[in-house]
Amino acid sequence: MDAALPSPTNGPINSPAHSPATSAPVLVKCPHCGTVMPESAEFCPGCGWSMTPLAPGERAAAAVAYLTIVAGTVILFLPAFRKNRFVRFHAWQSVLLWAVFLVLSAVALRLSDVAAAMVFLLFGILAALAMLFLWIVLTLKAWQGERFELPLFGDLAERLP
Ligand SMILES: [Zn+2]
Repeated sequence: MDAALPSPTNGPINSPAHSPATSAPVLVKCPHCGTVMPESAEFCPGCGWSMTPLAPGERAAAAVAYLTIVAGTVILFLPAFRKNRFVRFHAWQSVLLWAVFLVLSAVALRLSDVAAAMVFLLFGILAALAMLFLWIVLTLKAWQGERFELPLFGDLAERLP
């Protein structure tokens, strides 16, 4: 409940590389793409690979968050993931993406009449396919433990609590 409580880490850390850093910052290499970054980095700046071990439950939650806007919202409110930056990032990204998709769909539905039916149908099919593709990619990335940022949506999700 209290925001001042220290958050627990993600289970045991396997590597005993926990010597007190005194001089220069320790650099680590991303096992996924080879980008070099400070040891303190949570995510690879190159490809979004998570540098801290993620529990399967966290990856599952992040993937499930993309299921619908409802799933994303529920996960944002779950106390278990209150302090989990990884899960919350994906949940926010899902909520934002779904919100825009639903609003656009509603607007398109209202605007469409018989004359525009063909255009609307084509646009609708294209938009649905694009959303399906995005959805598959995002769910997969979340499941693989990656912080995959969409251009606009990812920026906003990053800033949200
Ligand atoms: Zn990387």
